[in-house]
This record gives sequence, C-alpha cells and structure tokens, in this order.
Amino acid sequence: MKQFTASISHELRTPLAVLRGEAEVALMQTGSIEQYRRVLASQLEEFDKLTKMTNQLLTLARAESGEVDFEKQSVNVSAMVQRLAEELEPVAASKNVELACACEANVMISGDPAWMERIVLNLVDNAIKFTRPGGHVTVTVTRDSRHAMLEVRDDGIGIAAEALPHIFERFYRADPSRSNRAEGAGLGLSLVKWAVDQHHGSVDAESILGQGSRFIVQFPVVV
Ligand code: ADP
Repeated sequence: MKQFTASISHELRTPLAVLRGEAEVALMQTGSIEQYRRVLASQLEEFDKLTKMTNQLLTLARAESGEVDFEKQSVNVSAMVQRLAEELEPVAASKNVELACACEANVMISGDPAWMERIVLNLVDNAIKFTRPGGHVTVTVTRDSRHAMLEVRDDGIGIAAEALPHIFERFYRADPSRSNRAEGAGLGLSLVKWAVDQHHGSVDAESILGQGSRFIVQFPVVV
C-alpha cells in the first residue's frame, strides 16, 4: 500500500507539474490565439491521461477490494475478438498499422464478457500503440482440448529482455522515453493480469527488442 501510494503520487506529480508549467508560461507571455490554442491542446492530452489513469486506478482498487461484480457466462471469444478487431480497425489505420484477425470459429469460455473485452482491448491497443507505421498486428483465437488461446502479435518496437519480467507490474513502462509519455500510465497490463487470473487463465509475453512482441492468453475451455 505504501509503495502503491508513493507510485500514484509520483505519477500525478509529473503531469500536474507539466500542466502548471505550461499555464504559467502562457500567462507570462502575451501570445497569439494560435499559441494559446497549442498550449490548451497540449493540456488536453495531459488531462486525458490523468482521466484514464484515474479510471484505471479506480477499477484496480475496486477489483482488489472484491467490489467488482464478476459474471460467469458463456462467452464466444471468436465472435468477440472479431467484433473488437473491426472496432479497432480505424485506430490501427490512422497509424498506418495493419490489423488482422485469424479466429477459429466459436471458441467458448466461461467468464465475464466485459472483462474479456477489456483484456482483448488492452492487448490490441498496446500492440497498435507500440508498432510503427507500416507494421502489422495479428490477433488469433484457437483452442485445443483443454485451453482457449488468444494471441496478440505485433512486429513493433519490442520489449527489452530486462524489462519483460516487469511489464505486468503496476505503473511499469519499459523505457518511457521511447513511447509517448502522454499515452499510458503503465496500468493496462496489471488489469489484464488481474482479469485473466479471475478467469483461472494465464498470460505470458515474449518479445525481441526492435522486432516485436507476442502476448499469449490461455483460458480453460468450456466443454
Ligand atoms: P501502458 O498504459 O503504458 O501501455 P501497460 O501496463 O499496458 O501500460 O504496459 C506496460 C508497458 O509494457 C508499456 O508501457 C510498454 O513499455 C510495454 N508494452 C506493453 N505492450 C507492448 C507491446 N505490444 N510492444 C512493446 N511494448 C509493450
């Protein structure tokens, strides 16, 4: 709890300092409307980041205190992944990243549809975020006799071997300088891990720096 509070304070301090600094500088100068607009646009990005982080923290806190309603129903992962991939297609296209989906039909698991969506969205969103223009993201759903498998693969920037064991930790970002600070608080994968655990599944990551990453989630299959 002590470390968690320290991390949150640290995470809040930077964006707040940026916001304050920008406002201060803008007030000191007599700028053109265009200059003020630029300051406001940059502040909007920081506000968005703070809002996303607050929502993620609230979800984590609720999850850990057992306040989360966790439904158990039959979920068609194949159909869900296909739908989400279609929804994310414009996001990928805007970054000139090709998003492909290869799903075995009607792979079913028992779980909570909203949390399942969150798992898929977080992984695919990261894959798009950390892939350069011209890159590829592939989402696959398969099953064997015991497991349903979700795989999200990209040929993006990859993760260094020393960072890989830490990426599921809260607030962990592998070398934040190489990704846009404004984009993430390092909470997405800790939420993914929590949700996968709730489904009695497992999540693993493999990556080669500069070549790409592969996230593999396994769930016990519904027979
Ligand atoms: P964030 O909100 O920063 O994306 P996450 O918890 O989702 O936080 O991910 C933690 C860190 O793991 C990211 O900041 C990034 O450094 C690394 N990471 C996650 N997914 C990928 C990926 N597909 N490719 C490269 N790095 C990744």
